[in-house]
Amino acid sequence: MTIQNYPSAFMHPFSHIPTLEQSGPVIVDRGEGIYIYDDRGRRYLEGNSGLWNVVLGFDNKRLIEAATQAYAKLPAYHAFFGRVAQSALDLSEKVIRLAPMKANRVLFANSGSEANDTVVKLLWLLAEQEGKPHRRILLSRRNAYHGMTIMTASLTGKDYVKSASGLPVYEVRHLTSPHHWREAKDGESETEFSGRLAWELEQTIRNTGPDHIAGFFAEPVLGAGGVIPPPEGYFQAIQPVLRKYGVPLIADEVICGFGRTGELWGSIKYGIEPDIVVASKVITSGFFPMGAIVLSEKMTERLERACRTYEELPTGFTTAAHPVGCAIALAAIGEIVEGGVLKNVQKVSPAFQKQLRAMQDHPMVGEARGVGLMGALEMVADKHSKTPFPGHLDVSERVSRQALANGLICRPLGAAVVLAPPFIITEPQIDELFSILRHTMDQVYAEVRAAAA
Ligand code: PMP
Repeated sequence: MTIQNYPSAFMHPFSHIPTLEQSGPVIVDRGEGIYIYDDRGRRYLEGNSGLWNVVLGFDNKRLIEAATQAYAKLPAYHAFFGRVAQSALDLSEKVIRLAPMKANRVLFANSGSEANDTVVKLLWLLAEQEGKPHRRILLSRRNAYHGMTIMTASLTGKDYVKSASGLPVYEVRHLTSPHHWREAKDGESETEFSGRLAWELEQTIRNTGPDHIAGFFAEPVLGAGGVIPPPEGYFQAIQPVLRKYGVPLIADEVICGFGRTGELWGSIKYGIEPDIVVASKVITSGFFPMGAIVLSEKMTERLERACRTYEELPTGFTTAAHPVGCAIALAAIGEIVEGGVLKNVQKVSPAFQKQLRAMQDHPMVGEARGVGLMGALEMVADKHSKTPFPGHLDVSERVSRQALANGLICRPLGAAVVLAPPFIITEPQIDELFSILRHTMDQVYAEVRAAAA
């Protein structure tokens, strides 16, 4: 059978080639609220908000209107050489007012990866200018996701990155993933586990040499690592260690920022006091590519002092701080903060979490975990020993494939299936999501049992 549109000239990033060979791509045609439609008119509930980002609906009129007006006024300009669009100034003011720490500057990029990559460059620039050129080591965690440029893929603590391109670069060190269910020792409480991870951090800093560490990157909740909220007391245990050795904390809020956890920032939710915050995705609700680096007052002061040697900030991207993107972001943040969307997240999250945790009784689910409007179901062959299913069964892939056939988009991440629905989801739609998911899991369980028999 020839699959229409496959193979085509299009190279599919992060896509499963055997599935494409079997069924071709899903051609996404249009969207409406939390649903998307393919080119054959089939409707899917978008349980992942696209890639965590399209939180305000696939047809949000206010954002489309903001974009239309911005295109009519100034469809494009850059922000080099002291030139800038008014919308970029307004957005920066808005972001620093809302930031989870005392912040006073925002630097824009075009994606989460670019923003994190730029942070590394700024940290290294500081090291050079402050007379500590060896201060280059970056700390991250296994299972973290910080992007796909060479540097940010190195910070990303996933095995497929390492095997694919010989990464990480040598400046990166990965610490234990803060996943209590998988990583804790027998009988170790969440607080004890957090204490052990803080001890590991301190040992790593001391062994590497505090003078050699440029920064510590952390998502408040590990997202693409499979939605792993921090264990009790985690940030309270590690922050004093970072402070003691003067290591800047970079909160990668690309997923958590602007409401996903039920608070405006993951940093607020978990009591994090970052030196730098990176935002992307939700900032434009996915309607425009954008990354934003938010600097604390202290970081700004250090950076601006360091840059005096160059007379200008020696970095920037052609389309960053784009006037249309900034206008869209202003509208998106307006919807979330003043327009009541964050309130909706807070209102419906308990129902979402309740239904998610109810899935724990399913025979395939080892752990149901999450916070706010994000969650994961980790699949195991044996709940007691937490033994994963054999890899060849592709259980999480099967669940998401079957869910797609049933009209629900959910994402396989390792052994887990991940959900992160749009912020505008209603309680009846949450019921719809879980009713499709439960039916799907039952179907896959029957298949898996048949395969094992
Ligand atoms: N950081 C985090 C926490 C992310 O989840 C992602 C993307 N999933 C990135 C960075 C990279 O963002 P982008 O894909 O826009 O480069």
